[in-house]
Amino acid sequence: AKEAGKGTFRFFTEELHKELMEKTFFEMELRQALEKGQFLLHYQPQFDLTTGEIKGMEALARWNHPDRGFIPPLKFIPIAEENGFILPLGEWVLRTACTQAKAWQEQGFPPLRMSVNVSMRQFNLPSFVEDVRRILSETGLHPSHLNLEITESMMSDVKRCETVLQELYEAGITVSIDDFGTGYSSLLYLSKFPLSHLKIDQAFISELSKSNTAIVKAIIDLAKNLELNVIAEGVETEQQGNFLQQLGCNEVQGYLYSKPLPEKEIEQSLFHTV
Ligand code: C2E
Ligand code: CA
Ligand code: CA
Ligand code: CA
Repeated sequence: AKEAGKGTFRFFTEELHKELMEKTFFEMELRQALEKGQFLLHYQPQFDLTTGEIKGMEALARWNHPDRGFIPPLKFIPIAEENGFILPLGEWVLRTACTQAKAWQEQGFPPLRMSVNVSMRQFNLPSFVEDVRRILSETGLHPSHLNLEITESMMSDVKRCETVLQELYEAGITVSIDDFGTGYSSLLYLSKFPLSHLKIDQAFISELSKSNTAIVKAIIDLAKNLELNVIAEGVETEQQGNFLQQLGCNEVQGYLYSKPLPEKEIEQSLFHTV
């Protein structure tokens, strides 16, 4: 028994060691990926549900790993948030998305709202609003064309959140609440904060069954009463789209309409006919 215990212990430490090495290596690769130009953005359009008109798009980070191909954000964003790499990465995402939006406008495409995901670490930086404003002025994108997506968890520090949102509002930048319904935001603050859009989390949309209908309807009604626009995410079926329209949802985003696409494909599929 003593031997086995020892063996198990050694097995554990070897396993842990291996895991740690892999994680360290992954983090090192992650840091270098930015310098090596391995990140890119895909863009997923958001459509007006009544007119079918494109209203905006969400920039989504992609890591094109030389050996492993595309690594999904859910694999590297959490690690980047943990080790702080999200700060340089987030700044790169913001700058790249603004540069792209500006370039499309200069090519004569209709101006759209460019939505960028913001992480907690970025949001909590004392220089956050200043950084965003600097990037806007460096890229020449008008603040009204930038939208920042924050999550309910960032609203837990109410004072900080209120200050930042007020400053963004004064700078002319709109802010959406992402993944709405999965966090714990107080409805009281929702009405106090200057917000533009509320994005219903795709979990509610993918299971738009009887029990969820009431919730989705309640979220849409709530948003309307607060004079916020509602975007439903993760819309995959015609049925979901029709249903959302009946419920009075303003905008939709999802595979039914378009997957997130690289810039060239966005230009071909969305702007070609303009
Ligand atoms: P999110 O912000 O909720 O983004 C929506 C996710 O849903 C995207 O996943 C998108 O590709 C996916 N999606 C869109 N339509 C559909 C659909 O019809 N069905 C299904 N099943 N999925 C759909 P993606 O690109 O893998 O990104 C995952 C998450 O990673 C994002 O969730 C966001 O939280 C984070 N993320 C991505 N890019 C960035 C970034 O630049 N900065 C930060 N901080 N987070 C990012
Ligand atoms: Ca988002
Ligand atoms: Ca979301
Ligand atoms: Ca999500």
